[in-house]
Amino acid sequence: MTECIFCKIARAEMKAQVIYSDEDVVAFRDINPQAPTHVLVIPRKHIPSIADCAPEDLPLLAKLLQTSAKIADMESVREGGYRLVLNAGEDAGQAVDHLHVHVLGGRKMAWPPG
Ligand code: 5GP
Ligand code: ZN
Repeated sequence: MTECIFCKIARAEMKAQVIYSDEDVVAFRDINPQAPTHVLVIPRKHIPSIADCAPEDLPLLAKLLQTSAKIADMESVREGGYRLVLNAGEDAGQAVDHLHVHVLGGRKMAWPPG
């Protein structure tokens, strides 16, 4: 059994505000939201980061992105716009080593990101 917190959330062994889940992916609200909408979308499969994806993970990656766009629709941020973020590694500030897409929306975003 892995100690990974996002695996635990995916297995419902740890509490989270899950807003969508299916056989491949789970979406839940970030515990420390950085925007009015801040949802994390993860694959159920434990993949540490985008840098660790294998060719056979491509369909899962496509599903992860498609689900992220669906979540933006569900959260009503499509019209105003939103940002999808994947942090990979130390310089990007990746804190949880289980691949996740941040869906951020509901406010104006700065560019370049900090
Ligand atoms: P990263 O910096 O790795 O891209 O983002 C990790 C995100 O996971 C952070 O935004 C952080 O607030 C969120 N997070 C960390 N632990 C938990 C948790 O236990 N539950 C939830 N819902 N979010 C978490
Ligand atoms: Zn994991």
